Amino acid sequence: MNSPHWKQIIDSFCHSKGYSRLEPRAALFDMDGTLYDSMPGHARAWMDMCRGEGIEATPDDFFMAEGRTGADTIEMLMQRSFGRSATAADVERLYAIKSANFRAQPPVGVMPGAQSAVGHCLQRGLATVLVTGSGQTSLIDRLAADYPGAFAMKVSSRDVRHGKPRPEPYLRAMQLAQVQPWQAIVVENAPLGVRSGAAAGVFTVGVVTGPMPAQVLADAGATVVFGSMPEFSEALPEMLSAMLDS
Ligand code: CA
Repeated sequence: MNSPHWKQIIDSFCHSKGYSRLEPRAALFDMDGTLYDSMPGHARAWMDMCRGEGIEATPDDFFMAEGRTGADTIEMLMQRSFGRSATAADVERLYAIKSANFRAQPPVGVMPGAQSAVGHCLQRGLATVLVTGSGQTSLIDRLAADYPGAFAMKVSSRDVRHGKPRPEPYLRAMQLAQVQPWQAIVVENAPLGVRSGAAAGVFTVGVVTGPMPAQVLADAGATVVFGSMPEFSEALPEMLSAMLDS
């Protein structure tokens, strides 16, 4: 995107929501596919679990389901392959296999551009909150080292009853940060996550970091879409200035 007309985008968003202004005090970041380049690894881990269990799936299933809790994904797989609901025991067992598969892979990298985006938010005095559908500790435990000074506040699958695409994860994040929807921004890479942020009434930035085309994020309700994380990171100072310095 070439130098977006921020004032116009912000005004039109505020108008649609009935906000008199945007004044972000918190940046709410998704984790997988946003802070970490972890989605290909997750898709492989899910596929390996499915093959071992005789569950039919394709890698695209997991890019489309990205952002859902593990329990919701397993429910979808059980319904489709076996025409029945997943029991609590199914969820525990299958998610343990998937998590072990994920941990057995080479460590995933930090998403290029994400550290500078998070750093800039901190520099501008925004609180940063992690909002993930993941319950896996292997990446959550790395945050303090990879994103120093950020993400003291976290919302994971364990903290919500209804995960993405429902608004609850982002509503919880705003409670934690003690901000209102007009005082936050959301950064997401997947359609279900974008729907969750938009449903929570927040200015939602969609960033393409995988096979999902930009239009899918726009259709899900992203306020603005970037083609990559470095592109977002580069535009962020101007975006925040348009919000905070007006
Ligand atoms: Ca994601």
